[in-house]
Amino acid sequence: TIRVRLAPSPTGNLHIGTARTGVFNWLFARHNNGKFILRIEDTDLERSRPEYTENIKTGLTWLGLNWDEGPFFQTERMEHYRKAIQTLLDKGLAYRCYCTPEELEQMRETQKAKGLAPRYDNRHRNLTPEQQAAFEAEGKKPVIRFKIEDDREIVWNDQVRGKMVWKGNDLGGDMVIARTPETDEEAFGQPLYNLAVVVDDIDMNITHVIRGEDHIANTAKQILLYEALEATIPEFAHTPLILNQEGRKLSKRDGVTSIDDFRKMGFVPQAMANYMTLLGWTPPDSTQELFTLDEAAKLFSLDRVNKAGAKFDWDKLDWINSQYIHKMPPDELLELIIPYWQEAGYEVNLDQDRPWLTQLTALIAPSMTRLKDAPAESRLLFGESIKFSDEAIAQLKLEGVKDILNEVIEGIKPSLTDEEAKALVNQVTKTQKVKKGLVMKSLRAGLMGELQGPDLIQSWILLNHKGWDKLRLQQALN
Ligand code: GLU
Repeated sequence: TIRVRLAPSPTGNLHIGTARTGVFNWLFARHNNGKFILRIEDTDLERSRPEYTENIKTGLTWLGLNWDEGPFFQTERMEHYRKAIQTLLDKGLAYRCYCTPEELEQMRETQKAKGLAPRYDNRHRNLTPEQQAAFEAEGKKPVIRFKIEDDREIVWNDQVRGKMVWKGNDLGGDMVIARTPETDEEAFGQPLYNLAVVVDDIDMNITHVIRGEDHIANTAKQILLYEALEATIPEFAHTPLILNQEGRKLSKRDGVTSIDDFRKMGFVPQAMANYMTLLGWTPPDSTQELFTLDEAAKLFSLDRVNKAGAKFDWDKLDWINSQYIHKMPPDELLELIIPYWQEAGYEVNLDQDRPWLTQLTALIAPSMTRLKDAPAESRLLFGESIKFSDEAIAQLKLEGVKDILNEVIEGIKPSLTDEEAKALVNQVTKTQKVKKGLVMKSLRAGLMGELQGPDLIQSWILLNHKGWDKLRLQQALN
């Protein structure tokens, strides 16, 4: 069976790029009836935090990306990495390097002066036991390096990018797979990223490694490690970067980077997940833009993942979000809106006012793009007294408007229905011998205080159910 994984490092909140990689892995797993595994790569002890792990889990769950196994934690698997490193040492495929940071720096300077790309020159690859003993006697602590032959050609058939060819000498020389030991008891220090990933992917029987294209050079190195550990090499698929409007990698400077940011801005999870499927993937019907994750999973394949960077398109995200908001049942949307009202200072009491608030939600939904639009879209409907705009005041001063509103006030009953409200408008139009447009416009000015806003009859009914329509019209007449 197909097994894929998402392997975030908990050094920050769930990043949009990681989440998008998560979407592709999830879609690929679901399409193939495979397994989606979550692995937390927390070996960077200084920068890893449990709260980031929580944020990653919460964010994935919010998006609907449920995982089948895990989360596994690399810090709990150190023994596996140590064993692999020992195996490589025993096979003579890895060795101890005693170069100091100063020596390495000098090496790079010399190379730079010669116009060469900086790399490790493999100088400790063939130390004699006597040389090693001498370094140890000096108190030098070694790192472990894995041998990379300069003339080695590394070839793989990338599931997104096609045939990839790398040369050993493009990889910076023999690579460090373990840090210097911290105590005298340790044979070597902390295992490093490329080694740990390969050991995990072998142990977890990962069949397809789907990750960002920033890992392409790592893939070349990792293939050599698979060979050295005599393991089956998985398929690799490198997904394109997410770019901003200027075509550069989307970064903190673009305002948002974490899924949390998008949630706070008022994007609903279904829309976010939907949009991310389109960030670098083209469905078979390239005009289709709306699908649930399950629908996308039916259609998903790696050969339709694009090689070119995926431009982040705010307008499209907004459009998709509005579609989900407009389609959502009002009682469901209400739950999502409540925090935005509360944050804006509206007193909303869900226990007492659920039907009224649900109706209000249905009224404003068609004009909402993001959840955070709710307070602005509903502001004219909260409260018994209002501010009148200049245009509304001008409207209220027009000839005949006082009589119109007085007759409306007289006709108002509690629990007004749609039909009763419309009938009242018609009645007033007739008795006052005016155009219906004048009645409607004056009513809007008096009820809402502004000449633009949501559907008037529906707004009126909402105000009526609170007893605010009469109060507002009386206020308008003073
Ligand atoms: N921990 C790596 C990252 O956050 C993931 C690497 C991988 O998927 O192999 O970029």
